[in-house]
Amino acid sequence: MIVLKFGGTSVGSAERIRNLFNIVSAIIDQRPIVVVSAFNGVTDHLIALAMNAMQGKLDLTWIRERHFKEIEKLNLESELIESELNELETALKGIMYLKEVNPKILDLVMSFGERISAKIVAEYFNQQGINAKALNAYDIGLLTDSNFGNAEVLEESYKLLQDYFYSYSDFIPIVTGFIAKDAKGNITTLGRGGSDYTATILGAAVDAEEVQIWTDVDGVMTADPKICPTARTVEALTYEEAYELAYFGAKVLHPKTILPVKKKGIPVRILNTFNPKAKGTLITSRVARPNKVAAIACKKKVNILNIHTPKMFLAYGYLYRIFEIFNRHKISVDLISTSEVNVSLTTEDKYDIDELKKDLKEIAELEVFNSRATVSIVGQGINMEPNIAGRTFSVLGRKGINIEMISAGSSKINISFAVKQEDADECVRELHREFFENE
Ligand code: ASP
Ligand code: MG
Repeated sequence: MIVLKFGGTSVGSAERIRNLFNIVSAIIDQRPIVVVSAFNGVTDHLIALAMNAMQGKLDLTWIRERHFKEIEKLNLESELIESELNELETALKGIMYLKEVNPKILDLVMSFGERISAKIVAEYFNQQGINAKALNAYDIGLLTDSNFGNAEVLEESYKLLQDYFYSYSDFIPIVTGFIAKDAKGNITTLGRGGSDYTATILGAAVDAEEVQIWTDVDGVMTADPKICPTARTVEALTYEEAYELAYFGAKVLHPKTILPVKKKGIPVRILNTFNPKAKGTLITSRVARPNKVAAIACKKKVNILNIHTPKMFLAYGYLYRIFEIFNRHKISVDLISTSEVNVSLTTEDKYDIDELKKDLKEIAELEVFNSRATVSIVGQGINMEPNIAGRTFSVLGRKGINIEMISAGSSKINISFAVKQEDADECVRELHREFFENE
């Protein structure tokens, strides 16, 4: 079996759905399982609909047109998605009535994007004479905890999904990405971009030969090509490298994607539906790239928090108290570096940190710097190569880019540091030149 996941731009129009059909129908004897995202733009729009409903506004015109236009071009019946649209309307009316949006109802609202796209894709296969069935992942065993908006998969899902897929036979499953249910039957989501994660969960459940992530770029790039036009595709990555790159800002993969397949050694291939002949990026347990940089990732909109206390000297339990506060506020920390009296760390600025700041100020002096970026140099074994850190810092020194915080040595494959956001692009370009254009 082989799992193929198609992202928003790869399902987002009649033309793209035909293209998807060609890709999948060519490998039917490998027993493909297809995972789909919502049409591009739809999830964002659903969130906006929920927010508007809270303010008493309800207008489904855009969402209807977005899908009906493509349904028509594919010669399918618009009734196909009527029940989902009605259900969506009911959920939005609930929000209007309560004047409140919470993560639970937001997950329900967001779920319609994937539910609708799976139905359209499956129906197109059937019209083309290939038996297919739209499946909501939660109906075939994908269960999570109740952490709405970023739910974690329950271990029992793997067995349930395996049982399902080992017993079906005569159709191509078209499965919703991104969404699941908790034990009480509430719809949950796996975090934005989570369809990748659904694909590898299914891949691990069925012991797939391979998981293919079909997207709109040629794979993981050596740097973000929007920042660095000379960036090129990375042909091979290890699971660890892919994880670190995704976690530290490369947008091609959802960071959790790697976890289910890594244990089983199932290869993940990132491919481009717009350029299907390109080799893409292959992610496995080993690569032949001794102690060299694989790629540079950058995460913007980051805060640096400097937590300072002279009392930390020789005290124990202090770091525990700091992290207990982060834990209580459910704020995750990306980089960290410590000295005797100082702890510096970075967080994404999507979090509201006002309450966190109050609690931290009770135990220490606190300085917060906004509009920062983290830059990460990732490559298996790079921490064994003293030269890489040296070259990094001398390049930035020459350019006068000030490094505000360094976090090295935490993993063997990653050197990360924080700079002012306005310096980030230049920093990425300079490092790219140093590690990819001069060798
Ligand atoms: N549709 C969801 C999102 O936009 C999940 C995904 O595309 O992977 O975040
Ligand atoms: Mg994605």
